[in-house]
Amino acid sequence: MADDETDGTERMDVSSEPPLAPQRPASWWDQQADFYTAFLHHLAQLVPEIYFAEMDPDLEKQEESVQVSILTPLEWCLFGEDPDICLEKLKHSGAFQLCGKVFKSGETTYSCRDCAIDPTCVLCMDCFQSSVHKNHRYKMHTSTGGGFCDCGDTEAWKTGPFCMDHEPGRASTTKETLHCPLNEEVIAQARKIFPSVIKYIVEMTIWEEEKELPPELQIREKNERYYCVLFNDEHHSYDHVIYSLQRALDCELAEAQLHTTAIDKEGRRAVKAGVYAACQEAKEDIKSHSENVSQHPLHVEVLHSVVMAHQKFALRLGSWMNKIMSYSSDFRQIFCQACLIEEPGSENPCLISRLMLWDAKLYKGARKILHELIFSSFFMEMEYKKLFAMEFVKYYKQLQKEYISDDHDRSISITALSVQMFTVPTLARHLIEEQNVISVITETLLEVLPEYLDRNNKFNFQGYSQDKLGRVYAVICDLKYILISKPIIWTERLRAQFLEGFRSFLKILTCMQGMEEIRRQVGQHIEVDPDWEAAIAIQMQLKNILLMLQEWCACDEDLLLVAYKECHKAVMKCSTNFMSSSKTVVQLCGHVLETKSYRVSEDLVSIHLPLSRTLAGLHVRLSRLGAVSRLHEFVPFEGFQVEVLVEYPLRCLVLVAQVVAEMWRRNGLSLISQVFYYQDVKCREEMYDKDIIMLQEMQHSISQIGASIMDPNKFLLLVLQRYELADAFNKTIAPKDQDLIKQYNTLIEEMLQVLIYIVGERYVPGVGNVTKEEVIMREITHLLCIEPMPHSAIARNLPENENNETGLENVINKVATFKKPGVSGHGVYELKDESLKDFNMYFYHYSKTQHSKAEHMQKKRRKQENKDEALPPPPPPEFCPAFSKVINLLNCDIMMYILRTIFERAVDTDSNLWTEGMLQMAFHILALGLLEEKQQLQKAPEEEVTFDFYHKASRLGSSAMNAQNIQMLLEKLKGIPQLEGQKDMITWILQMFDTVKRLREKSSLVVATTSGLESIKNEEITHDKEKAERKRKAEAARLHRQKIMAQMSALQKNFIETHKLMYDSTSEITGKEDSIMEEESSPPAVSDHSRVALGPKRGPAVTEKEVLTCILCQEEQEVKLENNAMVLSACVQKSTALTQHRGKPIDLLAEMLDPLFMDPDLAHGTYTGSCGHVMHAVCWQKYFEAVQLSSQQRIHVDLFDLESGEYLCPLCKSLCNTVIPIIPLQPQKISSENAEALAQLLTLARWIQTVLARISGYKMKHAKGETPTVPVLFNQGMGDSTFEFHSILSFGVQSSVKYSNSIKEMVILFATTIYRIGLKVPPDELDPRVPMMTWGTCAFTIQAIENLLGDEGKPLFGALQNRQHNGLRALMQFAVAQRTTCSQVLIQKHLVRLLSVVLPNLQSEDTPYLLSVDLFHVLVGAVLAFPSLYWDDTVDLQPSAVSASYNHLYLFHLITMAHMLQILLTIDTGLPLVQGEEDSEEARCASAFLAEVSQHTGFIGCGAPGWYLWVSLKNGIIPYLRCAALFFHYLLGVTPPEELFANSAEGEYSALCSYLSLPTNLFLLFQEYWDTVRPLLLRWCTDPASLNALKQKSAVVRYPRKRNSLIELPDDYSCLLNQASHFRCPRSADDERKHPVLCLFCGAILCSQNICCQEIVNGEEVGACVFHALHCGAGVCIFLKIRECRVVLVEGKARGCAYPAPYLDEYGETDPGLKRGNPLHLSRERYRKLHLVWQQHCIIEEIARSQETNQMLFGFNWQLL
Ligand SMILES: [Zn+2]
Ligand SMILES: [Zn+2]
Ligand SMILES: [Zn+2]
Ligand SMILES: [Zn+2]
Ligand SMILES: [Zn+2]
Ligand SMILES: [Zn+2]
Ligand SMILES: [Zn+2]
Repeated sequence: MADDETDGTERMDVSSEPPLAPQRPASWWDQQADFYTAFLHHLAQLVPEIYFAEMDPDLEKQEESVQVSILTPLEWCLFGEDPDICLEKLKHSGAFQLCGKVFKSGETTYSCRDCAIDPTCVLCMDCFQSSVHKNHRYKMHTSTGGGFCDCGDTEAWKTGPFCMDHEPGRASTTKETLHCPLNEEVIAQARKIFPSVIKYIVEMTIWEEEKELPPELQIREKNERYYCVLFNDEHHSYDHVIYSLQRALDCELAEAQLHTTAIDKEGRRAVKAGVYAACQEAKEDIKSHSENVSQHPLHVEVLHSVVMAHQKFALRLGSWMNKIMSYSSDFRQIFCQACLIEEPGSENPCLISRLMLWDAKLYKGARKILHELIFSSFFMEMEYKKLFAMEFVKYYKQLQKEYISDDHDRSISITALSVQMFTVPTLARHLIEEQNVISVITETLLEVLPEYLDRNNKFNFQGYSQDKLGRVYAVICDLKYILISKPIIWTERLRAQFLEGFRSFLKILTCMQGMEEIRRQVGQHIEVDPDWEAAIAIQMQLKNILLMLQEWCACDEDLLLVAYKECHKAVMKCSTNFMSSSKTVVQLCGHVLETKSYRVSEDLVSIHLPLSRTLAGLHVRLSRLGAVSRLHEFVPFEGFQVEVLVEYPLRCLVLVAQVVAEMWRRNGLSLISQVFYYQDVKCREEMYDKDIIMLQEMQHSISQIGASIMDPNKFLLLVLQRYELADAFNKTIAPKDQDLIKQYNTLIEEMLQVLIYIVGERYVPGVGNVTKEEVIMREITHLLCIEPMPHSAIARNLPENENNETGLENVINKVATFKKPGVSGHGVYELKDESLKDFNMYFYHYSKTQHSKAEHMQKKRRKQENKDEALPPPPPPEFCPAFSKVINLLNCDIMMYILRTIFERAVDTDSNLWTEGMLQMAFHILALGLLEEKQQLQKAPEEEVTFDFYHKASRLGSSAMNAQNIQMLLEKLKGIPQLEGQKDMITWILQMFDTVKRLREKSSLVVATTSGLESIKNEEITHDKEKAERKRKAEAARLHRQKIMAQMSALQKNFIETHKLMYDSTSEITGKEDSIMEEESSPPAVSDHSRVALGPKRGPAVTEKEVLTCILCQEEQEVKLENNAMVLSACVQKSTALTQHRGKPIDLLAEMLDPLFMDPDLAHGTYTGSCGHVMHAVCWQKYFEAVQLSSQQRIHVDLFDLESGEYLCPLCKSLCNTVIPIIPLQPQKISSENAEALAQLLTLARWIQTVLARISGYKMKHAKGETPTVPVLFNQGMGDSTFEFHSILSFGVQSSVKYSNSIKEMVILFATTIYRIGLKVPPDELDPRVPMMTWGTCAFTIQAIENLLGDEGKPLFGALQNRQHNGLRALMQFAVAQRTTCSQVLIQKHLVRLLSVVLPNLQSEDTPYLLSVDLFHVLVGAVLAFPSLYWDDTVDLQPSAVSASYNHLYLFHLITMAHMLQILLTIDTGLPLVQGEEDSEEARCASAFLAEVSQHTGFIGCGAPGWYLWVSLKNGIIPYLRCAALFFHYLLGVTPPEELFANSAEGEYSALCSYLSLPTNLFLLFQEYWDTVRPLLLRWCTDPASLNALKQKSAVVRYPRKRNSLIELPDDYSCLLNQASHFRCPRSADDERKHPVLCLFCGAILCSQNICCQEIVNGEEVGACVFHALHCGAGVCIFLKIRECRVVLVEGKARGCAYPAPYLDEYGETDPGLKRGNPLHLSRERYRKLHLVWQQHCIIEEIARSQETNQMLFGFNWQLL
């Protein structure tokens, strides 16, 4: 329409004026005769303006304009009223029945193994969670993107097709509203609008002109704005594109990166705007910069801005259509109809086909939207899905060809939609019937594969391109999809079309039959290994297709017979070469065979014989259906040519034998790999297995053909000829060449094995009378005969069917029992005893190693059970009638000849042409023959049994004088000493000969029955005798073993004793006896009153002479102060294991940090752990230097950071970074008289005064001339002259301990390490914070160990691991010594600050308030620093034992009181506590005390009853008391009370009190010291900082502190996946694949391995996880990668390792990467173990250990995790 220029309505200015009411354009469009033209006209005006700014668009504004000026009017036009109201109404009409959610890459999908028709039927997370399948055997997988949820598709599910949300009728409304929610007018409008919309979308999408638009869209004034547009491809790397852009556009890196990311995501992007010439120039530039020898240039186009704008809008309109269609089935149908209409009179296909055909030319972003459009329309309506599928098949060839030459991933190709259609059973049938889809697909293959054909018309994939061939596999896959559901009803048409497809498929197989022939290389090794992967990969792809085709053929007899005929014809056609070759003659013991001359070792051979094998498969099915008798109607006997059919499979088996015999070693690895896959579980069903069947089958054919060209003898002659062994069995030949003998022997063994398989292997339904289940059971039995196996290993070794099922679960419990896993490892299946009898040593699926392992295992087992070692074959199942003649191979002349020859050679001392393995096989064949005859005799009367194995075997070999029969030979073999191992088997066979003989005689000679019985009796007697003898021998053997064991354990004990420490780290101490080493040498049991650590009643220290062995030089040394130092290997690490404030940022200004006081939240501590291994300091230093030296020579990345002192413990390989010097404890004796005397004198008040006097004395001394800066201390009249500077000394002093230089050196070294790692600063041994860090790590390590013991419910003493015990002892004694290596003035300074918390009148400005310090840290620091008060310039003194005991006592009491107050102030009154005694003394005291306290704090008590206060206090203070007990024990060596070695809460408390000299009613402390403590209490209670803190209750730390544990995880793993699916990266808006990772410390979900969430730390980029770990776990953290179900441990920036996730499937196995996809559930024990790894501070150790074992595997960049 051209006359619309006059109308003013369409000239709307989007940018300036407010938008017009959307009804106006709507009604205007409506009035126009031609909606399409009117609509286009509207777009022509608006679209270019809205999408003007392509380079840098304001997306929000763009979207708003589109909504307002185009989409909303369109909706008005559609509904005729307010669209919002209409859509709201429609929403509730429940128009959905299918879910149809389209999966994004990385999303989890679920399938049900019980109910899904095939594994391609999947559910989305939401549907699955509300479906019945949740409780079935489901599988979880990760989508590669592109598929969609099948919920609601009744054809996809056997049961439960709907989830609760998509169940019809559930959406609250009735069916009527479901079907017809739209009124006629809306439908009419839709019919008018949709065709125009879709037409516009299609036209614009496939628009090719760069500069022009269709005439309808052209506007008058055309601008000169063009874009240079760059397209994505899969060949150029990210960096290459960035480089090209930077060069071509001369832009910044950031801009180029921006472009590249967008191109990768969207598929195309305008990189430059301007006039045509400029854009053209940029285009050429980019092209030339991106091109090089190996790569095409990038795809660049110059597009006019208007074209670009319309193309963009077309896609927007597509998503609008998607939205509208989701509301109503009618809309979808109208849309589909519009898509399918062919323009009348036009050559063009319908719109949807035009889109399909254009797919390969489109860019990524456009494809995605268009595919979604197809999903939301056609695929939601079954009828239209069918129509779409027909269009799809119509263009199938063309689409596939375009896909193959396309360079985009399959997931974004239209061809990927095939799975959605071909797997629907009704659709598949329809497509076969109506469109002959099988032929279409095979012809497509035939058309795309010719480039791989050689001149013989066989495939040859040498030099193939993996990418291209990989695309061809997609076509093969389609064939699988079509065949996946076998039709139940067969129409004539279906049959005809299927057969046509089958014939067409045979053409492909014809090209494969005999492809990639090879010839044995002699002389020189081949130069290049030929490509073999492609051919084998195609075999793998085809395996299930071949099986399915055979099954389809077997649907009825006639179909099968016709298929057989066709296949037979094809095989014969491929064999013309063979038939025309020349002939040769083989002769052996009277039998003659004339055959074609052919030698595998000289002529060409191929392992690819799919035609022959298909024929074998069809034959088995004929046998199963019982249709063999009709075969001659289809294939006449004379055309059958057995010799031809058997030829190729036989060659293949001979090739395998020759490869084993190393005759082909010059042909390289390629052949070895092919032979491997030939027999591997992935291929064997359609390769190896079928070749064996083909050989079995030939016996049958012979009988059918009657006058056969090959009786069993001739067949064996042929086998001998092809194995090139005819000479070897010729007696006159006696080769001398050792190599040749070896080769012959191997070939004979291989041949015998194949003969065993031919007569013995009957476990294929159709070959033998067995069911599928029995076949699988037998496979499993034989796998488990090798060893017990986990579920996944069994599954891996069983062939999968087209649905990826092995059938394992249905039968496994019949043959095996499941054994649950412990906290590590996995659950395994063990074979049931009753299944052991089915073991067949020559099971044809055993590899060589499996065979010998299984044989070894079974013999060992029989030995243990005192049974003989014979492993005869189990009685095989019967052959099917069609195969029943196979057994005639056993008793034919040539077989007897072969067996006899082998036995004769074994008896003959001169012959080398035999092996024990060969003998075993011959025994096996004998056993098979005898078993067969026995079974037949038991079933039928003797005269009917024609199988005369016994008779033949008893015949003499020749008429010569010395001729022997087989039995005689066996008797001789029994006597050969070298064959001792075979004796039992020979005995078994000889007995079997007897049995068969008796069976023969029994039925023929009635008279002989009695004698027969007698002989049986005799046999039993001899059997019993043998049994008794065996028993005796076994008993003797047992006694002998016992004796040896006793000797061994004596030796071991000796060894353990001499290397005691080596074992200490693994064993736990079981009681106090062990906790104190060499108890025997210490004085007899100490009396109970002396088990007090503090105060004048302090018990004696238990010390002993300690002699340790260095693990490096194995020399012993006594630990003494004056000796050279011995050291413990140790690891210092930062820890957040105890934090009450997870994620608290570490102060990054470590230089400024003042670590003297620990915050009570224990957010960051410094932990020192040791593996408990002792070395000489000198030895260690040498060792460390050696490690350093060797690492300089190594190239690969180091496991440990030598720079920071890391090394692996030489003995246990734990990661260490320092050593702790071992310093003996100095025993202190207290004379009781002195102590009592002092008790009268030294009260707490007096002690405080003395201490204060000493401190103030120092202050004045050091202040010298200056005015003292510290506030004067004596302001309350305490400046009493009795307390002067020296009075502290009067209570007893002694001289300081002297340490050897070596020890001092080590003390300084260790202290510096603690300082360096704890503060993350460079080492500086003179830094004033070194002693603080020493005290800090002592306190923190004790706290961590105490916490762990409590967590595990273990007693305080007696349950410590030896490494913990030794570590703590060394650490405390080190800390004592550390003080002496520092300036005492410094220590005094620190001490004063520490004491200021608990001493009155010592407060200064930097004294922290009571609630802000951890008092245990104060206690440790104060006790360790206290001796510095005794130091003087002139003499180095320390307190005497008795003074020290008072010092300890008073310090401890003061600090304990302070801690009590801390607990009571922060008490949580809301806890449910076990009611205590209401009226106890403690309860009363508590009430009274709190009343007193509240007076000062002003906070009105808490109203809690006294008992509640007391119980809370007790609970709160116990951890502190336990820590204190550990501390004083390791400091002083006083034996703790017995109760602390046991597990009892009540006993523990009083024992702690007695050990620590505390009243059990702790409030008595305050009463006792009331006068002294009152001012202190006042100070603590009225501190404004404390009161402030109390007001913000949340920030306050309460006691007992909460114990950290890993976060709660859901039991069902799919819940976690669910969580992850809702995870959105906080930094980027797109929905691209993410790696959500869960922090198990705090529960945060992070976006890992993604650039968006990287952070910069110290100028280096680190991933989100590593960054999080810095705060959450001080660099150490445990994460769960949710989508992969993997735990990772990380430490620092560069280290980490994988750790098994705590989720197990029902078979007790983990599933890293969700590869198997079984349902997973949380294993509490394993999660607990992971928790302990954390709490024991073993994460670093785990990482180091795993890195050591995996160092060669791969270098993951942990930094970017
Ligand atoms: Zn769904
Ligand atoms: Zn659903
Ligand atoms: Zn199910
Ligand atoms: Zn040593
Ligand atoms: Zn160690
Ligand atoms: Zn965290
Ligand atoms: Zn992110």
